[in-house]
Amino acid sequence: MSVAKLVFNSLTYTGWGALKELLPEVEKYSPKKILVVTDPMLAKIGLAERITAPLEKQGYSVTLYTDVVPEPPLETGEKLVSFTREGQFEMVIGVGGGSALDLAKLAAVLAVHEGSAADYLNLTGTKSVEKKGLPKILIPTTSGTGSEVTNISVLSLETTKDVVTHDYLLADVAIVDPELTVSVPAKVTAATGIDALTHAVEAYISVNASPATDGLALQAIRLIGRSLRKAVEDGSDKQARIDMSNGSYLAGLAFFNAGVAGVHALAYPLGGQFHISHGESNAVLLPYVMGYIRKSCTKRMADILNALGGNSTYLSEEEASCKCVEELERLVKDVGIPSTLAGFDVPESAVESLTQDGVKQKRILARSPLPLLEGDIRKIYQSAFDGT
Ligand code: NAD
Repeated sequence: MSVAKLVFNSLTYTGWGALKELLPEVEKYSPKKILVVTDPMLAKIGLAERITAPLEKQGYSVTLYTDVVPEPPLETGEKLVSFTREGQFEMVIGVGGGSALDLAKLAAVLAVHEGSAADYLNLTGTKSVEKKGLPKILIPTTSGTGSEVTNISVLSLETTKDVVTHDYLLADVAIVDPELTVSVPAKVTAATGIDALTHAVEAYISVNASPATDGLALQAIRLIGRSLRKAVEDGSDKQARIDMSNGSYLAGLAFFNAGVAGVHALAYPLGGQFHISHGESNAVLLPYVMGYIRKSCTKRMADILNALGGNSTYLSEEEASCKCVEELERLVKDVGIPSTLAGFDVPESAVESLTQDGVKQKRILARSPLPLLEGDIRKIYQSAFDGT
């Protein structure tokens, strides 16, 4: 018997139109100066203004910071942390995909700490987060990372990724409004949607899974399974966007508490070395990692198959687990993501360097139901290259 620890952030609003809760929530904190963190695209298409305009109308002093880039490098995080310290802000609002949200929570917390963001990295840092930081409100505009409900900030390093993680990075308020995701292009909808699915799948097979995370993960898989293809085909499909938004949020809660495993551990080096987006890195590896480990969790793979809309009733667990891998493969293909590393122009010679960076992700690999050692990791990258 094991004991499960569950942490949820304090307050979350979900649903179409949930953005209307922003002003009342900001009012509770009466901040004199607010920093809104986003990326240039969201400023360009007017989504950032949907946050700043009503705040300014109420008389708040608002500074819009638009220098976030996708898969933000450590240096981008360092710059924002300095900017936040100098600006004497009293609240940080992150609006955007995982890249903007991750930097917003990092800046809100490190604004009240000393040292650089590098000092707080999980793998190489020497300092620990000790204070809660500025109040933070996180508003996702993609359905993927679940960053609005996790305590993680992911930063890209030269050849891999690392995280700053502490419960003080949790949002005080998360506002998950699917209306804000309608403008997400099909390619980003596909990649972020598979990211969310991977969170749910990995949380469900994680050695740290609990009854609560199982419920969250399976419901996320159901919602994503029935709506991801629709959201990619027609971004204006309201129900599909609602399902994806809820699916991503639930998957975020599931993986934050149960952890992710082999797919993420192997995806980080792929993003770090080849600058493939986080969602696509997960997507291309998902069927290969699950195919490799499926024998260690056949019953759970059968459950995932059923949640995806398949039917395991007349199958043995062994057969159902194989069918589950096929379903995952089909979904990745249907949403237009290349199904091999070669499809992303990754050369075969990179299998070795990917393996060497993959083995470093010990904390994440420890949650795999099948222990993944160096030889296993090399085999998985090789089969993802070969497409076998
Ligand atoms: P992203 O934030 O990098 O955004 C991808 C692209 O989509 C950007 O160009 C952005 O401008 C655009 N975009 C976002 N919302 C849009 C909208 N509504 N309309 C039009 N365009 C829009 O992508 P992401 O996948 O959401 O985040 C990826 C980052 O999150 C990575 O750094 C990854 O490592 C990290 N991540 C964090 C967690 C966590 O728990 N903190 C979990 C998983 C991934």
